[in-house]
Amino acid sequence: MGAHPARGPPLDRPFAWATIRLDGADTSLVHAVDAGAAKAMRPGLRVRPRWRERPSGNITDIECFVPEVTMINAPVRAEYRVRPGAALTRFFTKIEDGVILGGRCATCDQVYVPYRTSCPSCGALIQEEREVADTGTVTTFAINNLPDPRAPEVPFVSAYILLDGADIPMIALVGGVPAHEVRQGMRVRAVWVPPEERTMSMANIRWFAPTGEPDVDLSAGVPGGGV
Ligand SMILES: [Zn+2]
Repeated sequence: MGAHPARGPPLDRPFAWATIRLDGADTSLVHAVDAGAAKAMRPGLRVRPRWRERPSGNITDIECFVPEVTMINAPVRAEYRVRPGAALTRFFTKIEDGVILGGRCATCDQVYVPYRTSCPSCGALIQEEREVADTGTVTTFAINNLPDPRAPEVPFVSAYILLDGADIPMIALVGGVPAHEVRQGMRVRAVWVPPEERTMSMANIRWFAPTGEPDVDLSAGVPGGGV
């Protein structure tokens, strides 16, 4: 114990007196809490001690208790570039040539688009490349009303399209047709940008547009489409 009892309030600004139950203790102690603002004080508030810079071996080494920091607001913005691996690089190389490349799992007999080197169903190594058509069927779609710099003017349609020869649908834009006329089962074909404008990018396909063929009946279900 110190030789002289402490006098006056422990802090020189508004604070609260509180009973504090330390973790592991069965009784509470009374101490000052510097919560920063009166409205921050409430029963159940988690606190920890703020120690004086120079401890003296007295109980007054604890200047007061302060709230635990459980949350901070930190606005974060991240810009990044995707560096494709070997399989995606192979896929984009073919996209630059105007070819959509899939991969066939010999174990599952499923063709996956985009091309990948391992089967998402069984994990087997995919060793067979399989070019798929740039025509397909809309399995499901969404009408978007929020502008996107990569898309046509709103409302525009994004859709899952089951390309002919593939067993899982691929997401893409649908264009060349009013949004309200897009439907499940609609037949579409890729609209490519001119060859001289192509890069290793999905932007080579402007969107998929209706072919005018009769709709496909999807009532029996769609492979991998969950419809
Ligand atoms: Zn497989």
